[in-house]
Amino acid sequence: RIVYMNGSYVAESDATVSIFDRGFLFADAVYEVTAVLAGKLVDNKGHLARLERSCKELGMKLPVSADELTQIQRTLIEKNQLTEGGIYLQLTRGNEGDRDFSYSDDIKPTLVLFTQQRALLDSQAAKEGIKVISMEDIRWRRRDIKTTSLLPACLAKHLAHQAGADDAWLIENGLVTEGGSSNAYIVTHDNKIITRPLSNDILHGITRASLLKVAEDCQIELEQRAFTIEEAYEAKEAFVSSATTFVWPVVAIDGKTIGDGQPGEIAKKLRSTYIEMVLAFTQ
Ligand code: PLP
Repeated sequence: RIVYMNGSYVAESDATVSIFDRGFLFADAVYEVTAVLAGKLVDNKGHLARLERSCKELGMKLPVSADELTQIQRTLIEKNQLTEGGIYLQLTRGNEGDRDFSYSDDIKPTLVLFTQQRALLDSQAAKEGIKVISMEDIRWRRRDIKTTSLLPACLAKHLAHQAGADDAWLIENGLVTEGGSSNAYIVTHDNKIITRPLSNDILHGITRASLLKVAEDCQIELEQRAFTIEEAYEAKEAFVSSATTFVWPVVAIDGKTIGDGQPGEIAKKLRSTYIEMVLAFTQ
């Protein structure tokens, strides 16, 4: 793979980061993942806008503009002949040559991007649905900022896999926040989508924002409110969304079958409509 690092395109084996980089020492870094379909960037404007917001919230400076980032992403797609998968982007606060919690305001950031070729459309999880288990949400209070402090998510997914499930749904004060790396939704028996409203408690998913529009276009009712895991057990459907999964139906939660145990109609409709839309409109 050819990757991007601080202004240069280099072979992945030549891309090295200092042990004093604050991304390595403190997870002092933000990231974004943009899906690529048919060689095109999916919902990328939203991802770059969220990146700018994450940077602003943490006082980090992006060394390049959003337009330049898009150009870098397109160059990587071309250099790696990426057709389907994702582009990972990470910006760390940088490195001042030692380990120190505090940092100076003129610290020079580290920017890396790389591609990942993956099948996104032809997905077993999309066809059959996934199983999740619930667990306590032990993350920090600013989940709206997309930082690389992902240890709680790694532990949650590992626990889920050990329990024979595919992913975790996280619970705080009895209410579902989101998935391990996705936004969470249920569908009531009168066909209304329920999903938690935006706040500092969840990541403001770019796919979520698009799906809200898709639901409106398809005239599917949607209510933004928090829901309990017990309500989810009894739901007609459940599903998750993220940049590289789009929509995945959830067919079991904590070993309890959701609906008839098959991917739900609304989840399938949202997935197919969203994919149709991005294939038609992405650049
Ligand atoms: N919530 C969390 C915790 C995530 O890590 C992600 C994506 O990685 C999402 C939600 C979905 O966000 P997006 O649709 O922007 O990928």
